[in-house]
Amino acid sequence: MSKIKKILILGGGFGGIKVLKLVQKKFKNNPNIRISLVSQDNYFLYTPMLPQVSSGLIHPNDITVPIRKLCKQAEFYHAAISYIDFEQKLVTITREFDGKVRALDYDYLVISLGGSTNFFKNNNIKKHAFAIKTVEDAISIYSQVINMLESAAQTSDLDFKKELMTFTVVGGGFAGVETIGEINQLVRDSVKNFYPSIGKDNISMNLISSKEFILPELGPKLGKMAGEYLKKVGVNVITKTKAIDAGEDFVKLDNGKTIPCMTLIWAAGIDIDPVIAELDCKHHKSGKLKVDKYLRVSGHDEVFALGDCAFVTNPITGEPYPATAQNTIHQSVTLVDNLYSLIVGKTRFKEFSFKSKGIMTTLGRKVAIAVIFGLHIKGPIAWLIWRTYYLSKLPMFEKKFQVATSWMADLLFKRDLTFIGLIKNKYLTKVDIKSDNSSIKDFFKD
Ligand SMILES: Cc1cc2nc3c(=O)[nH]c(=O)nc-3n(C[C@H](O)[C@H](O)[C@H](O)COP(=O)(O)OP(=O)(O)OC[C@H]3O[C@@H](n4cnc5c(N)ncnc54)[C@H](O)[C@@H]3O)c2cc1C
Repeated sequence: MSKIKKILILGGGFGGIKVLKLVQKKFKNNPNIRISLVSQDNYFLYTPMLPQVSSGLIHPNDITVPIRKLCKQAEFYHAAISYIDFEQKLVTITREFDGKVRALDYDYLVISLGGSTNFFKNNNIKKHAFAIKTVEDAISIYSQVINMLESAAQTSDLDFKKELMTFTVVGGGFAGVETIGEINQLVRDSVKNFYPSIGKDNISMNLISSKEFILPELGPKLGKMAGEYLKKVGVNVITKTKAIDAGEDFVKLDNGKTIPCMTLIWAAGIDIDPVIAELDCKHHKSGKLKVDKYLRVSGHDEVFALGDCAFVTNPITGEPYPATAQNTIHQSVTLVDNLYSLIVGKTRFKEFSFKSKGIMTTLGRKVAIAVIFGLHIKGPIAWLIWRTYYLSKLPMFEKKFQVATSWMADLLFKRDLTFIGLIKNKYLTKVDIKSDNSSIKDFFKD
């Protein structure tokens, strides 16, 4: 049997990257450990700042970190994972550039594949709504907003102008609230500075939440306060309401009302990747992987899972941990300690438990709301804390510098309104590129 142990990490998001970093540290220069990471994106995406990309405040690659820059002692595969076989300990991957299928074998597997936007099986909403999950989503929203501004500036039909200037975000969690806050700022500033013919009274911003108040993670007091602030800056906050259907130019609500609007953004839930859903192991009814207190997938001691694709129960409250980057990062630390113990033959493992010290969100320019060590903070101080904290957590100095520069530029200059159209893609079908890596098995011959 080979002395070399293969650790395979699936996903290059918060969980995958943190596990990679810690595993590389634990097994530094160890020739008997081979680490590999697979992700369909060749970059790590810093999602807490994604809404700022959707408003053009920062640039897409300010918050993306190429995974290869983080691979000090690991092999990276830019590929989509299409199948995980626990029995044979193989993961089937499809290369991005030519669509060819291969398989990677492993001794230890870490699954951190996150999730995708959940449209709750409503195909109309899926077809007509924008999501806010990937960097492409954020770029699409930004282009859509600029396109709507340009279109509204050229029509004299008042009803049509209002439809073009109506933006509806569904989802009262962090992603939805931060996105409406950003877009509201962008549209109102742009109309004032560059599109005076549109008229500010024709702008309509809606935030729809099924809950009694927005930002339930912050509790009723701050959630209601955040709602009041958004109303003050021109956002209609519609609570206890669900969006049930959508078309090209409308969104229908379960209270019987229909909002005519050309831009619908869906930030209302997380769906599980089909690769995860199909796995032969215990799942929660949401589709997430059930893990034990050591973050191992039930019934498979050499397989660990964390982050948005894992169902991790808080041992103190009995409730599941919410799907946040903060929880995922803390899970990574426990997971890597346990993975290390398993590899070196220790029999004692650490139980995962974490109590958040704080939670915060931005609501627009110079306004945020936070609970830190139980203290409620709002306004510019919370906004400054948000910026300082999230900038400090962004990986790599060069990215921190880029974001700080974009923020500075936004304080000094007016927002960029460039509209860039579709980009052509080239796909390779006839070129055969051979790999000489022994951990790759040619699965299906071309
Ligand atoms: C707009 C937005 C704002 C947010 N703001 C905050 C915040 O302020 N604070 C906070 O704590 N949390 C925030 N979150 C939540 C946070 O982003 C997630 O909880 C966190 O990313 C979960 O980490 P993960 O590793 O499980 O998944 P992800 O970070 O989503 O990573 C999943 C990785 O798996 C890859 N992948 C998925 N499927 C496949 C496949 N089939 N093949 C190959 N690769 C695949 C993806 O490309 C990605 O690299 C926000 C989320 C969003 C969308």
